Amino acid sequence: MTATTNYAQLDARDSLTHFDDTHGGLGARNNGHDSDDDDVPGGGSAAATGKVLVYGRGGQRWMNPDERPTPFQLEEPGWRADTTCNACMACNEGFSFFVRRHHCRRCGDLFCSSCCENELQVMRLGYQDPVRVCKACKPKVERENEFFRLYLKVIQKGDVFDLHRGNSAIPVLLQLSSTERDLVITQLKTDPDTRKRSIDTSSSAIVESLPIEALVEVRQVRRQPNAAGDRADTFVLKFSSGGEFEFSCEDKKQRAVWTTSLRRALEVLLAREFAATPIKAMAAEDAL
Ligand SMILES: [Zn+2]
Ligand SMILES: [Zn+2]
Repeated sequence: MTATTNYAQLDARDSLTHFDDTHGGLGARNNGHDSDDDDVPGGGSAAATGKVLVYGRGGQRWMNPDERPTPFQLEEPGWRADTTCNACMACNEGFSFFVRRHHCRRCGDLFCSSCCENELQVMRLGYQDPVRVCKACKPKVERENEFFRLYLKVIQKGDVFDLHRGNSAIPVLLQLSSTERDLVITQLKTDPDTRKRSIDTSSSAIVESLPIEALVEVRQVRRQPNAAGDRADTFVLKFSSGGEFEFSCEDKKQRAVWTTSLRRALEVLLAREFAATPIKAMAAEDAL
């Protein structure tokens, strides 16, 4: 059985608008901080197609045109005010004319230059150009960037699987929607002559559209070998609604890549720390 995705149709279905480098949107750059935070060179990356370039607190960043972060992105963290912090939060060196304050773009805390010297893309916040990141945030940012560069692309591109339903299975396309909010399962039809699969354009083609934020588990299932000795291992996606969806494919590598990609997506979704620590909470903590 061939499992060729009709990419012409997929491209049309998931077409993105051209990016538009409109400036502005998040307010003025000078926000009362006198830290030595560097200006970020302009330009950005055309790879962020479909997003707009805006000025965030920490430099230029790409955002969705509606300025609503995708489930994988975060709002910019609140920046710790210069006046609340007289020493580097990592090495405790006192700030002075010679020891300047620098904000980590990922956590918003204040550090001396050497404790905040790593310059990395922070893709989760939309920064495509390198910005300052503290030592504690560096490994987290590198892992997040890896998700955006590799694993997010796998689920955005989509792939053909068999969706198990009781004792039978139907060919489907599993793909993250262009808004990055939903995992969409679309039924495919198989051409009886060429065995090629394409999207069934009948109204019942979309089997399910599941919010990615409702994903709670990605589980691999080991199957007993069939009479021919083939073992069709599957993976199961479980959602907070209680719904479970079991998928298989003949290509072991495809299954492994998808299992890893979906688990990495889950890891990013489960670590939404800034939502829980808004700037007001940080200010209260400083007052203690
Ligand atoms: Zn320091
Ligand atoms: Zn940090």
